[in-house]
Amino acid sequence: MTPISPIALISTPYKEKFAIPRQPNLVSDVLGELHFCAGFDDANMLRGIEQFSHLWLIFSFHATASQGWSPTVRPPRLGGNEKVGVFATRSTFRPNGLGLSVVKNEGIVKQQGKTVLRVSGMDLLDGTPIIDIKPYVPYADSIADASGGFAPDAPEQLPVTFSSAATTQINGVQKTYPQLQQVIAAVLSQDPRPAYKKGQVDDKVYGVALYDFNIRWRVGANGIEVLEIEKA
Ligand code: SAM
Repeated sequence: MTPISPIALISTPYKEKFAIPRQPNLVSDVLGELHFCAGFDDANMLRGIEQFSHLWLIFSFHATASQGWSPTVRPPRLGGNEKVGVFATRSTFRPNGLGLSVVKNEGIVKQQGKTVLRVSGMDLLDGTPIIDIKPYVPYADSIADASGGFAPDAPEQLPVTFSSAATTQINGVQKTYPQLQQVIAAVLSQDPRPAYKKGQVDDKVYGVALYDFNIRWRVGANGIEVLEIEKA
C-alpha cells in the first residue's frame, strides 16, 4: 500500500473535541482553512477546483488515534446505550482512524505567499491532518432515495440565548471575530452534552473552547443560555 502522509492541516475554530458538530454542515457557515504541508504547497494541485462547490476531505482522527478502536460502538444517536458495528457508524474510533466529510469550497487565497484553501461546514478539530481532497460530484455522490438508518434526519436543535454580559463581551471583540456570536449559537444549538442528557434541564455550567475563547453556558427550561465569554 502507498504510505499515507498528510497533505495539509486544517485550522478551525474548534479547539477541543467537545461540542464540535457531529457531522459536516450541521453548522454550515463556519470557516476553516487548509494550510498545505511541505511538498504539497503547489497551486497546480488545486487547478480547476474552483469549479466544484463542495469537496470531500479525507482526514485522520489524530486526537483519538492512541485510544484504539473496538468492533462495536454506542452511537450518540441511539442514546449512547445500544451497540452497533463500527462500520455501521461514523465513530472516530475505527481501524485506520480515517474520517470523511463533505464541506463547502470557499475558494483559494494567498497568505504570506502560501496557498490556502478555504472551506466551511466542517466537523473537524483545529489542526486535523488532511490526507486527501476530492471534488464532490453531485451526479454520483447525491442519492435521492438513500436511507439514513438510525440517523434519518439532522438532530433537533435547541434555542440559544445570550446573557447581557455575554452580549457585551461579544460586541467588544466583534471586529476581530465577526462570526463569534453566530458560531456559538450554531454550535450550542446542537446540544453537545452527552447523549444521556438529551432533553434534560441541567444546573451544570459547561465550558467549550471556540477560537480564542472559553464559552460558559448551561441548559435551562427555555433552551441554552450563554453566560459568559472569556479570553482563553
Ligand atoms: N464526518 C466525519 C466522518 O463521518 O468520518 C466525522 C464524523 S465524527 C462523528 C465527528 C466528530 O469527530 C466530531 O464531532 C469530533 O468530536 C470528532 N473529531 C473531529 N476531528 C477530530 C480529530 N482530528 N481527531 C479526533 N476526533 C475528531
